[in-house]
Amino acid sequence: MKIFKNYINGHWQDACSGKTTDIINPANGKIIGKATVSGEEDINSAIDSAKNSFYISGKWRRMSAQDRANVLFKIADLMTLAKDELSMIETENQGKPLRESEADVEDAIHVFKYYAGLITKPSGGSYEVNDGFGQMHSYTVHEPVGVCALITPWNYPLMIAVWKLAPALAAGNSIILKPATITPASVVKLFEIFHEAGLPAGCANLVLGPGGMIGGKLAESKDVDCITFTGSTPVGQSIMQAAAANVKKIGLELGGKSPSILFPDIDIERAVEWSMIGIFMNQGEVCSAGSRIIIHNSIHDEFVARLAERANCMTIGNPMKNPDMGAIVSEDQMTQILKYIEIGKKEGAVCRCGGERYTEGECADGFFIKPTIFDYCTPDMTIVKEEIFGPVVVIQTFETEEEAVALANDTEYGLAGAVFTNDHMRAIRIIKELRAGITWINCYNPCFVEGPWGGYKMSGIGRDLGVHGLEEYQEIKQINDCLDPGMPGWYNN
Ligand code: NAD
Repeated sequence: MKIFKNYINGHWQDACSGKTTDIINPANGKIIGKATVSGEEDINSAIDSAKNSFYISGKWRRMSAQDRANVLFKIADLMTLAKDELSMIETENQGKPLRESEADVEDAIHVFKYYAGLITKPSGGSYEVNDGFGQMHSYTVHEPVGVCALITPWNYPLMIAVWKLAPALAAGNSIILKPATITPASVVKLFEIFHEAGLPAGCANLVLGPGGMIGGKLAESKDVDCITFTGSTPVGQSIMQAAAANVKKIGLELGGKSPSILFPDIDIERAVEWSMIGIFMNQGEVCSAGSRIIIHNSIHDEFVARLAERANCMTIGNPMKNPDMGAIVSEDQMTQILKYIEIGKKEGAVCRCGGERYTEGECADGFFIKPTIFDYCTPDMTIVKEEIFGPVVVIQTFETEEEAVALANDTEYGLAGAVFTNDHMRAIRIIKELRAGITWINCYNPCFVEGPWGGYKMSGIGRDLGVHGLEEYQEIKQINDCLDPGMPGWYNN
């Protein structure tokens, strides 16, 4: 049985307490390994390791950008060699269909290459100035922030970790990664790759275990200079409060309840397909999931009938065999989703398909939920307001464009949103009104490393990916080089 350990200062270690927790395959409920359960001593030693690496040895941060890039390219190459293994590890631990894990691994490889390339490109600005003291050459440089704690969720265990690891390491920081307690498997494999690629000891540390304790300690530690977190909004809020202790640099990618607005001029078949990708990809456990469909009254019946027909035909099963939908990540998450489904029914939404656990054949002992569509939903319903994080979509209708925008923005979240229409001017008009960080026109969910990923309102602060994703892990230093050899002559004596 696999033992998932901490990786601190270049060594694999058990928790000081010796405690472990079972890691489960959500497709069959079986134990796939045991993960170490870290305590305060382990966290402190990970923080010390990162601190020594950054402030004392300085080996990683002092390397030339090109040398750091070479190590990141090597990581990408080793990941490419281990692509099949990484994908299977991810599916076994997380429950998503194998082809989705393969896409995640491809994305992660691409992200390492992107930041390896980006860090060697020119950055900063250069100015010739004269403010009365004489001529100055003033310029800016980007420097690493220092010790960075990265806390990640269970829905994309490898990919979201890499969205943070790649830019943080490219920038020259020393990091501590705290993955979700229940899905450590793929990042443990990734750290084995880090070791093989020759990352200097201490610049990348991994601590496994319970979120509240470890995450809380990392957030409040005065030895941690920056914290970035992807996860739920309430935990993000608590991290923000704790991070105030030493005014850490902070990045939060939080929850969502994202709308798709559908106008009558669309191709219904195409909109159905994208809506399915929007809500059923990764079993709906996607922060940007298109979990609210806001549709014009005139096409409501045709669209919902077709969406329900297609959702009913989706295959659910052993994720290794590539069904349309795999397993929910854990029994707890499945219970939570089923609770929301019951609330939806009680509050009067009409369940058009699904609405229950799936236990056929080899799914009997796993955690599966049928794709679920709730129709005739109203803004006051709990299932319309709260993030469910499962394969459950709610349908609302509108008559005018203004009404559609008002419904779409009627949420405390602001992560993503989409509009489906063949009228391009209308599409742009609507997109500009949406209070959301990631938007799509006539599609849903495509995501790529070049584009910044993050939300408005209670969906977060800052951005992963793209150039902005690198800046999350950098400070900007202003350097003023006085070119005037004479005295400033500021005082009379
Ligand atoms: P979560 O907030 O429960 O946990 C996320 C991480 O934080 C885990 O590593 C967890 O162990 C840790 N954690 C838990 N309590 C903590 C605490 N008190 N202090 C510090 N760390 C703590 O979220 P989850 O259930 O793993 O993931 C689902 C949530 O993540 C959803 O709300 C989803 O929308 C959000 N998410 C957002 C994005 C995005 O890019 N915006 C992406 C993926 C997931």
